[in-house]
Amino acid sequence: MKKLPKNTKMVCNGKKVNNGRRDVDEIVFLGTGGARYVIAKQLRATGGMLFRFGGKNVLVDPGPESLYRILTYLPKFNPEKIDVIILSHKHIDHSGDINVYLDVITKGGNNKHGILLAPSDAFGEDGVIHRYLLQFLDETIIIKENLDFRQGDLQFHFPIRHEHRVETYGFRFLYREHTISYITDTKYFPELIPAYRADIVIMNLIKLGASDIDHLSIDDCAEIIAGIKPKVAIITHFGMTMIRTGPWNVARQLKERTGVVVLAAEDGKHYALDKLLSYG
Ligand SMILES: [Zn+2]
Repeated sequence: MKKLPKNTKMVCNGKKVNNGRRDVDEIVFLGTGGARYVIAKQLRATGGMLFRFGGKNVLVDPGPESLYRILTYLPKFNPEKIDVIILSHKHIDHSGDINVYLDVITKGGNNKHGILLAPSDAFGEDGVIHRYLLQFLDETIIIKENLDFRQGDLQFHFPIRHEHRVETYGFRFLYREHTISYITDTKYFPELIPAYRADIVIMNLIKLGASDIDHLSIDDCAEIIAGIKPKVAIITHFGMTMIRTGPWNVARQLKERTGVVVLAAEDGKHYALDKLLSYG
């Protein structure tokens, strides 16, 4: 390819190219499975999500097999390039590979690098993060309600503590003029709607049926989507009952009920920001 002059930007198939380097704005699902049985059988991958915006790489909720999935789904991507890791809570389907990544991004402790954000109970004796790894990071941030965090063009906000068995937080972020929110595991409560208002809403829908003490039901998701009215909603983190029913069937049902485009996330799929914003 002909060398581009310095600072030249062009658009190639909708992707910005900066000095020959492809800057993608996208969300990659490294796994769309959740809960015990799906982890044990790897019926769906449980690797979390990678947000790639403005040249930054933010890994979220790396569950079991996440590193294997990132190497498989993004063969040209070097996981050492992850800038930030966010752990919404310490349950194993979200945190299984977190220590592996902390070792990878710091090259086994030889390269001080990376920022980790996690709730306080993910650390310490009953936590899931090895303490010795923290010294190799640039920064460790404890997530609390109303925390703001900035990384490049990304402005994160952790609006509210969830109702879940362990300390849990989702987030909303602003990237240029667009907002994206992630509603991780939680019982439904009405404050979720104003807290997660965004153009794109990602939500964990682990099972069919009425709300339990820990998770959103289909009705809860419909309520949230109808309340927020995003351009598009994406459901993910499917347990066994969701997989048996077919997440795409549930997504269609939610779309019919709310009038909002609802996508069922797929393992390894890249969702480009431009495409997501073109809905609605
Ligand atoms: Zn959980």
